[in-house]
Amino acid sequence: MANQNNCISNVPGPVLIAGPCAAESRKQILETARALTGTPYLYAFRAGLWKPRTRPGEFEGVGEKGLPWLIEARDMTNLKLAVEIAMPAHAEACIKAGIDIVWIGARTIVSPFIIDEIASALSGGELCVMVKNPVNPDLDLWVGGIERLKKAGIKSLAAVHRGFDAFSSKPYRNIPLWEIPIELMRIFPGLPVFCDPSHICGRRDLLPGIAQQALNFGMRGLMIESHIDPDHALTDISQQITPDELKRLIAGLDIKTGNTATEDNRLVKYRTSIDELDGQILELLSKRMQISRLIGEYKKEINLRPFQAERWSSVIHNRLEKAAALKLNKDFIKRLFDLIHLESLRKQT
Ligand code: PEP
Ligand code: MN
Repeated sequence: MANQNNCISNVPGPVLIAGPCAAESRKQILETARALTGTPYLYAFRAGLWKPRTRPGEFEGVGEKGLPWLIEARDMTNLKLAVEIAMPAHAEACIKAGIDIVWIGARTIVSPFIIDEIASALSGGELCVMVKNPVNPDLDLWVGGIERLKKAGIKSLAAVHRGFDAFSSKPYRNIPLWEIPIELMRIFPGLPVFCDPSHICGRRDLLPGIAQQALNFGMRGLMIESHIDPDHALTDISQQITPDELKRLIAGLDIKTGNTATEDNRLVKYRTSIDELDGQILELLSKRMQISRLIGEYKKEINLRPFQAERWSSVIHNRLEKAAALKLNKDFIKRLFDLIHLESLRKQT
């Protein structure tokens, strides 16, 4: 999808969207927006008006009442406005108020029926629509949501990577699983993909690392929660930062502006080596799988089941030791060999 027709196509990157998790009061909105002005790369001011909460009775947002506060903030700062929508009525209220950008949250994108209804409510407007990944690590669901919006005629689209729910996501609130947004970028070339470090991290100290990784991985911009008084925020206290902290975070990022230089000889040489090495890795994997198949046949002959816990335990122990000696990242090698082993078991059945 060559998606050049989006609201940020002419904005030099990285595009920053910042503002509180939730709009709480007119004063909080105006003070936060004022304090954010002058932040490098800041393009839009975000605030949630309708907050999807896990338990009823928690602060569920101020709703439509906050729309005039946001318009006032835009008049004061010239920033675009970004608001989360979760129902067709929210989309209609945003269109009517003249909001520039809406995003569909992680809990909403999991429901294809709601997405179709939201898409039809949005098809009458000119808003830019950002699609967050679903809470569960399901790339197809994310792709499907984007396709549904495209099908409804929405041209101005972007995606937001906000991490995924996982059995064990520590130290993050939502595990990043970068391979999923990277695959999304491959599926939709030209689609601007943002990163929301706030909801990935869930805590302030981890934000700079994730923001930097997002830029390193080619994300178009960042959505970061910033509140004038984070310690007294009504939602997401531990991940929101003050506008001053946000300015420091942005100033500390290493922002690369170079373009792909295909004619660059050194780059071509390195890439040729990588291509050759990948070829060798694939040939070795193919040989390994052939042996797995032979082992599988033999195990059948001697009435042995494919998975042998003791053998696997000694294999992984040995590979991790070897990896450590070669200065390879332990988690990466563990994940890689878990996959290789699983595929090998499949070959044996
Ligand atoms: C938010 O951006 O405040 C939010 C609720 O996001 P998510 O849908 O990613 O949880
Ligand atoms: Mn939030």
